[in-house]
Amino acid sequence: MDKDVTQVWQDCLEIIKDNLAHEHLYQTWFEPIKPVTLEGNVLTLQVPSHFFYEYLEEHYLELLIKTLRREIGPNACLQYTILVDTSIKDNPFSTLVPSTSGKITKDNKPQNAPLDISISNHNGFPNPFTIPGIQKITIPSNLNENYSFENFVEGECNRLVRSAGYAIAKNPGRTSFNPLFIYSAVGLGKTHIANAIGLETKKNFPNCTVLYISAEQFMQQFTDAVANKDVNQFLLFYQMVDVLIIDDIQFFIGKKGTEDIFFNVFNSLHGQRKQIIVTSDRSPAELNLTDRVVSRLKWGLNAELSVPDVETRKAIIKQMIKQDGVEMTEDVIEYLAYNVNTNLRDLRGTLISLIAQSSFNHKDITLELTSHIIDSIVKSVKQEMTIEYIQRVVCDYFHVDVNKILTSSRKGDIAQARQIAMYFSRKLTKHSLSTIGTKCGNKDHSTVLHACKQVDNHYSADRKYKTYIDEIEQKLSKV
Ligand code: ADP
Ligand code: MG
Repeated sequence: MDKDVTQVWQDCLEIIKDNLAHEHLYQTWFEPIKPVTLEGNVLTLQVPSHFFYEYLEEHYLELLIKTLRREIGPNACLQYTILVDTSIKDNPFSTLVPSTSGKITKDNKPQNAPLDISISNHNGFPNPFTIPGIQKITIPSNLNENYSFENFVEGECNRLVRSAGYAIAKNPGRTSFNPLFIYSAVGLGKTHIANAIGLETKKNFPNCTVLYISAEQFMQQFTDAVANKDVNQFLLFYQMVDVLIIDDIQFFIGKKGTEDIFFNVFNSLHGQRKQIIVTSDRSPAELNLTDRVVSRLKWGLNAELSVPDVETRKAIIKQMIKQDGVEMTEDVIEYLAYNVNTNLRDLRGTLISLIAQSSFNHKDITLELTSHIIDSIVKSVKQEMTIEYIQRVVCDYFHVDVNKILTSSRKGDIAQARQIAMYFSRKLTKHSLSTIGTKCGNKDHSTVLHACKQVDNHYSADRKYKTYIDEIEQKLSKV
């Protein structure tokens, strides 16, 4: 008796699943397939795209042949239909990916109708499927040429990321640094180094498809794809990338749909040993994404960029002004390096203002001008609200040594400053109670909660205490 098509395909899937190295390969390449008909020994499967079809033929043809012969018999035959979305012409990637759909769409087919485009002959599985005129698609890499390795000064702060980056560029997808996860506070060079790795890879392998994209742009593309019912085209686009660089992945926090699609893209690229590079403003452990995404981000190398020391800052200033074609005296460089110590974005901003001021007013870049600019610019540079910053402000206020609140000392003024730092960290940052606790004297989350309650209680009961809190809050709000 003939088995029904769903059952036959289900049995095939069991065999296929057993023969694949990873569950995610099954999910990526086999779950989306829909069995359509089984007529005699001809099984028809519907696949979501042309690319999908090609990928199956290239990587899984043998497995499919073996499986089908086992389930259907030695004369088993496979036929594909491809779901064609005719709305593809105004898809968001049409500038990036020339649409191939026009070549396989028949005019009289309704939108989204499955389109039968291939029938194999009856002697096994030759590739019957050729669509004339499909060009090799070129994806612009979106890399910033200025952010090269040549322009990236080496220091203790970036040594690990830099050498991992060089290794990746020599052998993308084939090192153990896959994914490479780069994290740091703002302005410490994540975007620069991520671009540098992409540029270096292109230099070594001109045919390699590298794509740099901010997490925000990725989300925008995905949202547009959903709106245009083009998710399949979106996935197809990412299938063509060999080195994918996603900048500022913390942007995905709270964006479940985008995170899911990223998970999908990650799995299929990683499964094909393609390189993934991700940057973030915090470590994977602190990244509030789903466990399955976080665990994958930890698969390769996680490396932090730290604040460069003063010697590295000097070297970076020299590198920056060389690019700008400007000269500065050694004492100006030194002054800048010592005084702009927050991050390199502030340093870059200060240099630009300095150069602009000197050329508008036809003044030389003197120490005086530099100090004037630093006063007017750096002091107003927006300080990021971090736990460390709050601790500094609170300790300054009470004249307590900031290192003391990092210990477990319970001395009155120290304990009080620590509690208030915890209170403001909870109020003004997005850190979890346990992170705040860890950073404030290695306490646990319940201690932080207790501290916040104490501050609230004192605030309403004690007028002097209320003044402390209000004044500190005012200082913090000035940043
Ligand atoms: P992030 O992405 O971490 O916020 P960026 O990559 O935008 O930081 O870096 C901020 C600025 O500092 C950029 O102008 C960048 O070129 C420069 N920069 C960062 N690190 C270095 C370095 N090691 N050498 C030279 N310039 C650097
Ligand atoms: Mg950046």
